[in-house]
Amino acid sequence: MDLGLTDRIAVITGGSIGIGLGVARAFAREGANVLIAARDRERLDQAAAAISRDFGVEAVGHACDVATAEGCASLVAAAREVFGGADILVNNAGTGSNETILEAPDEKWQAYWDLHVMAAVRLARGFAPMMQARGGGAILNNASICATQPLWYEPIYNVTKAALVMLSKNMANEFIPLGIRVNAISPGLIRTPDWVKTATQLTGADKAEEYLQSVADEHAPIKRFGSVEELADFFVFLCSDRASYSVGATYFVDGGMLRTI
Ligand code: NDP
Repeated sequence: MDLGLTDRIAVITGGSIGIGLGVARAFAREGANVLIAARDRERLDQAAAAISRDFGVEAVGHACDVATAEGCASLVAAAREVFGGADILVNNAGTGSNETILEAPDEKWQAYWDLHVMAAVRLARGFAPMMQARGGGAILNNASICATQPLWYEPIYNVTKAALVMLSKNMANEFIPLGIRVNAISPGLIRTPDWVKTATQLTGADKAEEYLQSVADEHAPIKRFGSVEELADFFVFLCSDRASYSVGATYFVDGGMLRTI
């Protein structure tokens, strides 16, 4: 299936590692040029160089903190300067949490709100006019199964990801007349370096695989983690014109983890 993404410009936040890097590589494999954003410049530049080398597209890293208004503005400006605009925005930067509602301070709630929700608001405000000027585009927000089916130890993550899903629905309705399709994806357990690091920290290197398998056995009927590649292909399809009637929806990619219909 030709996804028609050759020479399109895709911006991916959190594109230096894990799911975001996998998504950036999957876009590049389809011939799209990519602008990836993250805070750690060294890791970002290495990722961008590897994408250019492996796929022969233009891949550029822009170091910024998307949890701030300045960081978002600088990413929008970078897209304009480097590529003259953008066709696709994937809001992927995010991270899990661990707290109780009784103990977590206001500042922690605010930080996750800024990262998971305000980044998507601010970047949409910056990128939508550019996309409209180029004839339309697609915005895809990476939420989580936890937006619908919470994990007990991370209420702030669950709540802010749920807000991102609701934002996606509202944004989809507002942006349809602009020719911009907005959707959300809610992944289940996806094997990223971060999951492996967490498992190693909790159990030690020799027991990490056993721990990850126990997590998969407990939560996912498919009894395994998904790979970044399995998820990334779905992101790329949804952002392509082949998914032109898919808008305003949240898609689960979770190995059966969601326990409702
Ligand atoms: P990783 O921790 O592996 O990667 C996170 C990426 O986001 C990194 O590139 C990181 O780079 C970047 N990032 C984090 N904070 C910021 C910030 N403030 N500004 C700019 N970039 C930032 O995460 P995953 O790949 O596991 O997860 C990616 C997304 O997928 C997250 O939103 C997560 O909630 C969601 N998700 C993940 C699941 C999983 O099982 N892995 C399941 C469901 C959802 P740097 O630190 O250099 O800024």
